[in-house]
Amino acid sequence: MVWLQEFINEFGTDAVIVNEVLREKLSKDYYWYSPVLYEQLKNKIADCAIAPTSIDELQRIVSFAVKNKVAITPRGAGTGNYGQAIPLQGGIVIDLTKLDRIDMQGDRLVSVQAGVRLGVLEKTLRQNNRELRIFPSTYMKATVGGFLCGGSGGIGSIRWGNLWDDNVSSVTVMTVEEMPQLLTVSGDDMQRYIHNYGTTGLIVEVKLPIEPKVSWSQHIVFFHDFREAIKFSDELAHSEEILKRLVSVCEWPIPAHFHPLKKVLREGQSIVMLEIDEKSVHLLDCLADKYDGDIGYTIPAENYQKGLKLSDFTWNHATLWAHKHGDNLTYLQARFQTDRIFEQMADLRSKFGDEIQFHFEYIKIQGEIVPASLPVVKYQSKERLYEIIQFCKTIEVEINDPHTYILGFGGYNMRMKELLKRKELNDPYNLLNPGKLPTAKEVQEFQL
Ligand code: FAD
Repeated sequence: MVWLQEFINEFGTDAVIVNEVLREKLSKDYYWYSPVLYEQLKNKIADCAIAPTSIDELQRIVSFAVKNKVAITPRGAGTGNYGQAIPLQGGIVIDLTKLDRIDMQGDRLVSVQAGVRLGVLEKTLRQNNRELRIFPSTYMKATVGGFLCGGSGGIGSIRWGNLWDDNVSSVTVMTVEEMPQLLTVSGDDMQRYIHNYGTTGLIVEVKLPIEPKVSWSQHIVFFHDFREAIKFSDELAHSEEILKRLVSVCEWPIPAHFHPLKKVLREGQSIVMLEIDEKSVHLLDCLADKYDGDIGYTIPAENYQKGLKLSDFTWNHATLWAHKHGDNLTYLQARFQTDRIFEQMADLRSKFGDEIQFHFEYIKIQGEIVPASLPVVKYQSKERLYEIIQFCKTIEVEINDPHTYILGFGGYNMRMKELLKRKELNDPYNLLNPGKLPTAKEVQEFQL
C-alpha cells in the first residue's frame, strides 16, 4: 500500500497508528449490541488511525486522503451503537478526541471543538454555574462531535427534546476536498450534519446553547406493579411543578442486571429512576404515594455526577447491563402510543412472552412529552428479530431499526435527498465514511 508509507512519511511513525490491536480498537464501536451488525462488521478494520492535535493538521490529513483517494472515517469515543464509526473500506480512522478546546461565550453559549468529551464539558459548565441541555447516557466518554453525528438525545431531552430541536446553535464543518474548506452552518442547514454518521463533513467546532445550573437530586422509586410505575412516571413527566432532567421507568427483571445497584434493588420490583430539581423533592412523596410507590433510594444533589449515577442505568445503558448479564440480549428502538401503551405492551407480551422486556425514558418530541423505549430483546435469530419488528408495526408501535448501519434504513426522518446533495458538494469523491448512506436509487425506492 504505497499511500500508507507516504502517509507515515508525512505525519510520522509516532502519530500514525498501524499496530493491529490499536487499529482494531479504533475501528470499532458498540455495534456488537446488535448480533446482526456484529456478523456484518466484525472483520472491518482501518489501515491506520491518527489523532490530529490541531485543525491545521486535520486539514493536511484530509488533503492527503483526497489526493490519494483514501477513505476516511471520523471517530469520537466510538460509543455509537450502529457501527457508524466502523470503516467499511479500510483507509484512515481520524480520532478527533485531541481537538478538545472549550470556550465559554457568555452565559448562554459555549463554543467547543468536536473532540471535547461531554462529561468534561458538563463539569466545566457546572463549575461556571451552567449546564448542558441534553447529553447521552454515555456522556463521560462520548464527544460532542460524535453525539451530534451519531446520537439523538438522552438526559435533558424530557425538557429540551432531541438534537434537532434547536439544541445546537451552529457547527463548523471541514469539507473533504484537496483544499479543505471550513463552513460554518446554522439554522435549518444544520439538519444535513446532525445524526448524519459523519458523512457530509468533518465537524471541527460546535456552538451549543447552555442553561443555568440546576441542583439535580436522584431517586429510585420502587413499585410492585409496573403499570403503576408507568402511570406515576407519566404524571411526573407531565407535571409542570417538578423540573426534571430524567424520568426512566424500568420493568423487572431488567433492574436485576444493574449490579452496582444490587444492594438497593428489590427482587421482583419495577423501578423509576429520576433526576429532579432538589427544590421539588417535597412534591415527590405525595405523587409516589398516589401510585403505591416507595422512594427507596436517593442520591443528594451535592453528589450529582460524582461516583454512582442513575443515568448509568437508563437509555441504552440498560442494554449494556443486560449484555453483561451474559444472556444473548439485544434491543429495539420503539415508540409506543401514550394512550395505548398498556394495550400495545399486552399485545407484545401475549405474542412474545418474556422475549421482550420494557423500559421507557420520557422525552419531548414536537412539544409533546412521550415515552421513548429501548426494549431489551432476547435474541434468537435475525428472522425472529424482524418478526418482532413486523409485529410492532402491525400494532402501531413505531420502530427505528438499530440493526442496520445504513442511515435512513433505521428510521428517523432524515431528509435524505438533501443530505445526499450536501454530500456531493462537501465530499465529491465519496471518501468520508463511505457506505453509510443509501444510494439515490434506494432513497427513491424506500422513500427515505
Ligand atoms: P462515535 O461513536 O465515535 O461516532 C458517532 C458517529 O459520528 C460516527 O459515524 C462517526 O463517524 C461520527 N463522528 C464522530 N465525530 C465526528 C466529527 N467530529 N465529525 C464528523 N463525524 C463525526 N445515544 C444517544 O443519543 N443517547 C443516549 O442516551 C445514548 N446512550 C447510550 C448508552 C450506551 C451504553 C451506548 C453504548 C450508546 C449510547 N448512545 C446514546 C449512543 C452513543 O453513545 C452516543 O450517540 C454518543 O454521543 C456517540 O458519541 P461518540 O463520541 O462515541 O461518537
